[in-house]
Amino acid sequence: MTHVRPRALLIQNAMVLTMDPALGDLEKADVLVEGTRITQVGAALAAPPEAERIDGSGMILIPGLIDTHTHMWQGPLKGLGAGLWGTPDYQKHVFPLREKFGAEDMHDACFAAGTEMLDSGITTVLDFCHNTMTPAHAEQSIAGHRRTGQRVLFAYGMLGEFKSLAADHPWRLAQVRELASELRSDPDGLVRLGLAVGSLEYSGMELVKTEIELGRRLGLPMSFHQNPPAQIRQLGEAGLLGSDLVPVHANLAADDELEMLAACGAGISFTVEGEFGGGRAMNIIGRAHRAGVTPSLGVDIPSRVALDLFGQMRLTFHVMRAEEALAERITGRWPLARRPGTPHIQPRHMLEYVTVNAARAVGRGDELGRIAPGYLADLVLLSTGPYSMSLGDPAAHVALQSTPADVDTVIVNGEVRKRAGRLTGLTRADATGAIHRVRERVLSIKPHDAAHA
Ligand SMILES: [Zn+2]
Repeated sequence: MTHVRPRALLIQNAMVLTMDPALGDLEKADVLVEGTRITQVGAALAAPPEAERIDGSGMILIPGLIDTHTHMWQGPLKGLGAGLWGTPDYQKHVFPLREKFGAEDMHDACFAAGTEMLDSGITTVLDFCHNTMTPAHAEQSIAGHRRTGQRVLFAYGMLGEFKSLAADHPWRLAQVRELASELRSDPDGLVRLGLAVGSLEYSGMELVKTEIELGRRLGLPMSFHQNPPAQIRQLGEAGLLGSDLVPVHANLAADDELEMLAACGAGISFTVEGEFGGGRAMNIIGRAHRAGVTPSLGVDIPSRVALDLFGQMRLTFHVMRAEEALAERITGRWPLARRPGTPHIQPRHMLEYVTVNAARAVGRGDELGRIAPGYLADLVLLSTGPYSMSLGDPAAHVALQSTPADVDTVIVNGEVRKRAGRLTGLTRADATGAIHRVRERVLSIKPHDAAHA
């Protein structure tokens, strides 16, 4: 019997930010990938002669970025939400468009947004698909995701048309059961099923409870929009909170609700640009962080926010610093000066939010979000550009200096998906074509220039 060695990949001489407490940062190290997993991390590693080698000299290697809340169907609607003012504006101009999306639009939208995310170093996304208007919408979204090769937690949306939420509930639950068993036996396991639980204010406790109980029976990671206040408390009192149920936004969460989340090990997904732009209370992120609730980040609405987590890290850091400074000013400690424990938030926390914390939020904290032996090989090599690396903490360089243009190499599940700044197996033109098809079908907008289609 011959033993077939798994394909091997050796990344050499990179500055490796493992995000693993035991391994820390490695100034100049190699990472060996065999098959889909990282098998060794260290200096001057030996590798099988046939291993593909990638020179990481002068670059930073980080775990692939993980977005914990994005509505991928809105990718082709980029810019439509740019100047919106408050939730009523969003509910008037963007959200109703979901009803105009056909199943083929979902396919194209997921493919285009996933391609753009991979190009930007986002190797995993929780697609909060609140546009499962028919069973085919869910099937085609999954098919679009499979084409990109991005790692996706497809969070099946229970929030359909408002007028028929209860009437549509049985077929949605049935499809969730079917997809759960279908995706569990998926050979590469890149697309997994999660549950985008309905919003309490629309669906009511009875439907939401049924959904969460089903999700738990099937072992699905779950998430829900927490917009009006006190819903975390309501779910807690109903015994429904858990580390597998991640609230999104939660800007108005009270201290006792944060304690409830911390007690059950749940995180919160913050989508800072959308929340800040919508005028929401932003002190929640610092409060959650200090209460032991692990924050993670998402783009949320690509109709308004770029498909880029570097921008979210930068904005989040400054929002949190501004909040700490405001607290100092209010208590008369002004001008700012260092006191014990202040400032609490450091740039490196942002990289934790989009790696280790986010991996926990999508239910894969034990195999994603770190560069360590046994972890899945989802990796991003970042160029530090022609103008030199930052002084000080390299994680600060990633959080505050890097942009998608610095993403040199992207590896998902041991497969190279971008190399030397160019996508492999995908093209930007295919994604652009998909965007234009959706715009034409949904909005009757023809591309200005056919050459770009
Ligand atoms: Zn959302």
